[in-house]
Amino acid sequence: MQKGNIGVTTENIFPVIKKFLYSDHEIFLRELVSNAVDATQKLKTLSSIGEFKGELGDLTVRVSLDKETITVSDSGIGMTTDEIDKYINQIAFSGANDFLEKYKNDANAIIGHFGLGFYSAFMVAKKVEIITKSWKDDAKAVKWTCDGSPEFTLEEVDKQTRGTDIILYIDDDCKEFLEENRLSALLKKYCSFLPIPIAFGKKKEWKDGKQVETNEDNVINDTNPLWTRKPSELKDEDYKEFYRKLYPMSDEPLFWIHLNVDYPFHLTGILYFPKVKSNIELNKNKIQLYCNQVYVTDSVEGIVPDFLTLLHGVLDSPDIPLNVSRSYLQSDSNVKKISTYITKKVSDRLQSIFKNDRKQYEEKWNDLKIFINYGMLTQEDFYDRAKDFALFTDTDGKCYTFDEYKTLIKDNQTDKDGSLIYLYANHKDEQYSYIENATNKGYNVLLMDGQLDVAMISMLEQKFEKVRFTRVDGDTIDNLIVKDEKKADSLAADKQEALSAVFKSQLPKMEKAEFMVATQSLGENASPIMITQSEYMRRMKEMATIQAGMSFYGEMPDMFNLVLNSDHALIKEVLSNEEAACASEVAAIQSEIKAAEEQRDKLSKLQEGKKDEEISVAEKDELEAKNKQVEALKSKKNDVYTRFATDNKVVKQLIDLALLQNGMLKGEALNNFVKRSIEMIK
Ligand code: ADP
Repeated sequence: MQKGNIGVTTENIFPVIKKFLYSDHEIFLRELVSNAVDATQKLKTLSSIGEFKGELGDLTVRVSLDKETITVSDSGIGMTTDEIDKYINQIAFSGANDFLEKYKNDANAIIGHFGLGFYSAFMVAKKVEIITKSWKDDAKAVKWTCDGSPEFTLEEVDKQTRGTDIILYIDDDCKEFLEENRLSALLKKYCSFLPIPIAFGKKKEWKDGKQVETNEDNVINDTNPLWTRKPSELKDEDYKEFYRKLYPMSDEPLFWIHLNVDYPFHLTGILYFPKVKSNIELNKNKIQLYCNQVYVTDSVEGIVPDFLTLLHGVLDSPDIPLNVSRSYLQSDSNVKKISTYITKKVSDRLQSIFKNDRKQYEEKWNDLKIFINYGMLTQEDFYDRAKDFALFTDTDGKCYTFDEYKTLIKDNQTDKDGSLIYLYANHKDEQYSYIENATNKGYNVLLMDGQLDVAMISMLEQKFEKVRFTRVDGDTIDNLIVKDEKKADSLAADKQEALSAVFKSQLPKMEKAEFMVATQSLGENASPIMITQSEYMRRMKEMATIQAGMSFYGEMPDMFNLVLNSDHALIKEVLSNEEAACASEVAAIQSEIKAAEEQRDKLSKLQEGKKDEEISVAEKDELEAKNKQVEALKSKKNDVYTRFATDNKVVKQLIDLALLQNGMLKGEALNNFVKRSIEMIK
């Protein structure tokens, strides 16, 4: 028997491995099984080039479970004593402690850096044995034992068969790995697609109400996963079935893309466009990254473009440096190339479906939209490709490309300054009457109700030239697309003021909402009253909810305009009733206001241009008193309007109808409206 020290410069590496790699303990299984697979593949290679002349025999890698041990056995190349010494005993270390400290939360990085694959066994085992016999003719079988100290023993043993058994004596605090279910789940996670059959015990069957083992190996992997096969040999059903295997709970995918490149990097894989029902689901199923069929991770950020992390499927590439930090990854030239390649492939595929089967593409647009919009918003090169197959949907459900839409509205929706106005709604039912107003004019209204549409609108306004998006309820339709110089309101200023005051006095108080009341001549067939909300203010508020540093806007109340149609019979009626009821009283107050204002203006003219100390206290007091008088008179005039309006059912009813049409009539106000309406039809 031989004894020796493992060649590490750190005094004792094992406690370090254990301590630092706690969260990733489970990867020991991946490391050992993939070593076994490697050894097996090397033997196959030796055989194919004629160096190994014996029988390959059954090459299945076996994982088995005992009371205290897990064993991974292969029939691969095995190791000679010299090889054990070279590959297992001499681990090249430098600056180990520093490195471990830096990457203590990233087991992959540590293991990769040190070639520590095999040693990860010590994360879960208190003792590890290697019993191995090399494929070489005169090789003797040897057993290597190590109990987690830097000391090992090496002795000759009796082993007939070629290959290696790794036996782990599981640590007391890692007993969970001795549970069949746990181990089975780990094998499924890491080993499902390894290229050599992996058997975990025997298949079981039901016999006399009990589960009994059969003689058949329980092979847990698919050695020939779909992405390694030729696309030409595969049918749609194969892709769907593979998808179900990866994500058993998900709906059928929309599309898929089979990737296969050899140069200048190696990459295979299948990406699926999923049909997502919710945001939660979007983040749950992820792209799985493999390296030569060994599962590595499902966090592919930094490897695929951000927006494509929303896709599902698998990527397999030996050229992605896995054992490095994320920031390094992003600057790696292979990773950059891979990312560009995937973006191109994805857009080519979308483009071709769009071209060849537009009907299908349009049917799936609603589900595709979020991916495509996200890509366009976050990645310039994707925008440039996607602008030809991204779609707009109008409120009738018709789809248009950007170019088609422009052609559609160009003649009718260009305003007097030559800007093309894109009208949109974000809620078909809530904005029904506004949509109708617009379509009655022959305008088209887009439906922009997607999660990313607010951002899309801002971006498109920058990308398109002389284009403005405006929501249908942003103003009266003639103000949204202004075609001629504005005609002056036919109503005299004092009448406008009277109407505004009458309606303003009856608006219900609403939290975080303010109203401006104005009259406008909209034609006698248009609605008598409507509520609009300025596009600008609404957008600022919308932005405030998604962007930091804009909370100022978020705090502001919603600003609405209550527009009274001065051409409408009902508004005219309110006005003439108001005049009949208030004219003489208002006229009297008005002349008092006029006089008071004249006096005030005279006073302030006297004080104009003077320094503060040149004006006497008496003069100042006099001016202030006049100002107060003007205010008091104005408020007296308002009281006259209010008194009139308080008893006016038409005014109240009109206001409530406008609020109702916008879903803003609630609670007590709604109840009052219902009661009043019943009263009125009785
Ligand atoms: P890596 O696999 O990254 O080289 P490991 O620590 O996992 O690092 O293994 C070190 C070496 O030990 C391997 O390169 C291989 O030569 C040898 N080895 C490990 N496991 C086996 C095995 N099951 N059969 C044959 N050789 C093995």
